Amino acid sequence: MPELLKRLTPVARRPRGCDCCGGMAIAAGERYERSTYFSREPVYNRSTQFNGKHVYDVVSCMPCKALAPLVWHWSDIAPDALIWDDYRGWATEMTNDVVHGEAARAWLFRAAHTPTPINNNAKPAALAESIEENKR
Ligand SMILES: [Zn+2]
Repeated sequence: MPELLKRLTPVARRPRGCDCCGGMAIAAGERYERSTYFSREPVYNRSTQFNGKHVYDVVSCMPCKALAPLVWHWSDIAPDALIWDDYRGWATEMTNDVVHGEAARAWLFRAAHTPTPINNNAKPAALAESIEENKR
């Protein structure tokens, strides 16, 4: 089980991708959550940006952070290992749910423009292109 090393809620200096919705959901000037985990075994098969790493960061927009407990209970996957695919499964199933439907549809909207996780280390030109796509 990965160990939480630190959890910060910095203000984004530039638009950022969220590991949980895969969208460019974090605008410059907004707070987001960055959790740093240590795993004794290198992390594989959960998300490509974590592959082979012992120490890894999970970046989350605040709406996804708020959903994490719901997705955790739904998926039975530990919160330190949730990725966008777990959120997608939850959101797809909850789309018409009376209680969680609105949050599920909001997640699907955030994820719609970028269906796979964004690499936060992507070149600025690729990020700008992605942001332009989200405006359309
Ligand atoms: Zn998100």
